[in-house]
Amino acid sequence: MPSALLGSLGGQQLPDDELLELWKPLRADETMANRQRQDTSKPVADQIYTTLRDMIIGGLLEPGMRIRQRELATKLNVSRIPLREALPRLEAEGLITTTPRRGAVVAQLTEQDARELFEVRAALDAMAARLAAAKCATEQTAQNLEDALEKTEEATDAGDVDRIAAAHMNLHEQILALADSTLLAKLTAQIAGRVKLVSLDTGIADPKQLHYEHISICNAIRRGQVELAGALLSAHDPRCRTNS
Ligand SMILES: [Zn+2]
Repeated sequence: MPSALLGSLGGQQLPDDELLELWKPLRADETMANRQRQDTSKPVADQIYTTLRDMIIGGLLEPGMRIRQRELATKLNVSRIPLREALPRLEAEGLITTTPRRGAVVAQLTEQDARELFEVRAALDAMAARLAAAKCATEQTAQNLEDALEKTEEATDAGDVDRIAAAHMNLHEQILALADSTLLAKLTAQIAGRVKLVSLDTGIADPKQLHYEHISICNAIRRGQVELAGALLSAHDPRCRTNS
């Protein structure tokens, strides 16, 4: 079980250079928009939300750390309004908790939390696979899923870690899209950040092994094999999508 979730992430996982860059005070000629990787056409509150989420998941804001709004707003060179708007979204994802005494604090997840998160994600994934297979058994084609599988194969052959991570994420998103359940998509998104947070030191699965599992999963979905698709997803390596 990941030890990072039991306390400080600092000793376990160094934040990457990009995260550290985000944390540095802005220069006079710089804005959050031109510093950040994400879509700068997004409202500032969305950008701040993404930045804080990256900081928490990347370990730059450590579990138990208080979110000091004034200090953080100064460092990010924004007013406190977009910051205040971002906090409830992080709380809804379980990445921060708010208490009357201490205000917003970065969540400290326990081993029990981690176990529950992996169990729930496996159950949601299996449900998505069953629904997707049921769709394919009747009317739907799975062209997007086929394309996603092809991309994972190309990325795996190229051995590019970032491409592999993005391709795996995309493949699971296509399964979810085929499942066509708004509630399921919402519940999956709600725990995604916390799953990443507790996955920091679970290690990286063998990309080739993951690819074989993805081939079996996609075949079962395309053929409309509902129970098999669900079972394969239940048994799918939980480390898939945790390093992206
Ligand atoms: Zn996977």
